[in-house]
Amino acid sequence: MSDCLFCKISRGEIPSERVYEDDKVFVIKDINPQAPVHLLVIPHAHIESLNDLSEEYGALMAHIMGLLPKLAKEQGLDTGFRTIINTGRGGGQVIFHLHVHLLGGGQLPGF
Ligand code: 5GP
Ligand code: ZN
Repeated sequence: MSDCLFCKISRGEIPSERVYEDDKVFVIKDINPQAPVHLLVIPHAHIESLNDLSEEYGALMAHIMGLLPKLAKEQGLDTGFRTIINTGRGGGQVIFHLHVHLLGGGQLPGF
């Protein structure tokens, strides 16, 4: 997707502070952090949202789920962390390229 922000960041066309990268995903710091640690875990593949997942992405999603606690540990989030996936406009999604928010540091407020 040529005009997608996260595709552009994936391809290196827009600079970003990468915390982690492999062949499936990359991880950047959110530009507008909502907690002391706020990372975005983003697949290189352009998938618009959870609504667009299919069986073929099962291994990718398992990879992301396994990566989240490792990233949290690396970031020193020893007492816990929060993960959020916004889906669709009504769910607060602004960038229509699937991503998982990883938040933590201090004590996050409850819902
Ligand atoms: P959404 O609301 O789609 O779940 O989350 C999009 C997130 O991307 C927001 O938290 C926003 O701050 C972040 N964001 C938007 N543009 C950029 C950018 O250019 N660079 C980075 N690192 N984060 C961005
Ligand atoms: Zn994209």
